[in-house]
Amino acid sequence: MAEKITFVPLSYTGWGSLSYLQQEVQRLKGQKVLLVTDPFLHELGLTQKIIALLEELNLTINIYTKVVPEPPVAVAEELVAYAREHQSDIVVGLGGGSALDLAKLAGVISVHEGDVKDYLNLSATRSIEQKGLPTILIPTTSGTGSEVTNIAVVSLESTKDVVTHDYLLADVAIVDPELTMSLPPKVTAATGVDALTHAIEAYVSQNASTVSDALALQAIQLISQSIRSAVKDGQNQQARIDMSYGSYLAGLAFFNAGVAGVHALAYPLGGQFHIAHGDSNAVLLPYVMGYIRPSCEKRMKDIYNAMGFNSGYLSQEEASHKCVQELQRLVEDVGIPSSLKGFDISEEALTGLTEDAAKQTRLLARSPMPLGKDDIFAIYKAAYDAVVFK
Ligand code: NAD
Repeated sequence: MAEKITFVPLSYTGWGSLSYLQQEVQRLKGQKVLLVTDPFLHELGLTQKIIALLEELNLTINIYTKVVPEPPVAVAEELVAYAREHQSDIVVGLGGGSALDLAKLAGVISVHEGDVKDYLNLSATRSIEQKGLPTILIPTTSGTGSEVTNIAVVSLESTKDVVTHDYLLADVAIVDPELTMSLPPKVTAATGVDALTHAIEAYVSQNASTVSDALALQAIQLISQSIRSAVKDGQNQQARIDMSYGSYLAGLAFFNAGVAGVHALAYPLGGQFHIAHGDSNAVLLPYVMGYIRPSCEKRMKDIYNAMGFNSGYLSQEEASHKCVQELQRLVEDVGIPSSLKGFDISEEALTGLTEDAAKQTRLLARSPMPLGKDDIFAIYKAAYDAVVFK
């Protein structure tokens, strides 16, 4: 079957790859740089590294540092206004997915009419017609893969929504693991399981292809075998390098194959309870995979092997059960609560969560097992009771 594969046009990866920033800003002919980042990275001094490189080029630099985690659409609107006001001609995004997603929106929506909310997937009244400003994305977490996807996520009152278009794809991704060394253990864990979820959901997706399979399996191997070390010892350089490549590959995999049930059920947790994206994916991962397991036993056996286990004499069914158990163990080992109760979510909230998750039809369509409201409620209930399906 013919397959469409889309990659970000140019990437620099590996330790020290930030050194390519200057030549790329010059190649893209940027004169008025909009640097999008969050206040914490600014305080940490990571932003100063970028500013120093840009200052050597004698450019105008406007720095927007008001990005917040899981950014509400209002922050995106404010940033777009800032880009228009400063007549920026190139955007550099530095940070986790929150900063990178907003950088994408600044680059594209600032050259269009209207507000960000006019372009949201669930409620769009306008469509993206033209390429935005040249954009360079530099992740400082090993998680979202936002640097290689055409998606920007914003938080709404009770859920999340996305703007998605190929014009949101960055011109350049710079994926330098050195920038992730300062990540605290909790963020390393949440963002790392987010990346693992991308790879796993891409591998079992209805839209999986030979290319996305290769990317996903390598990502699963790198992440599942390094995440514990990266969480335990943030100065473990090899673990940071593996996580950086793992999240980059997982991003490429899910951009091409899509994510599904875990993300659909995680979005309302982020929207209604402000749980970090990585944590909300992580707490649901074993329960969603446990529920859909009968529809993708062979693929879950492959995942089990990629995690470093030998399925040897096990049947597909047995290996798929073990895969779910190992996913649950991994989430626990990196210190993420293994039930919704661990995030102070009450049983009464499950109905409202189910209503919102069922609206994520774009995501649910890629699940190897169709997931209706009853299925979604059953998964939330299992995640509440911490009972993995047999
Ligand atoms: P984040 O960007 O919200 O950052 C989390 C925290 O980590 C912040 O406090 C930040 O300051 C801190 N941080 C980041 N880098 C650091 C570093 N090197 N050292 C110390 N602290 C650091 O977290 P995230 O998980 O990377 O991004 C989450 C957002 O990305 C959510 O809005 C989510 O919906 C979105 N997302 C987007 C895509 C996509 O394809 N566009 C995919 C998945 C998730």
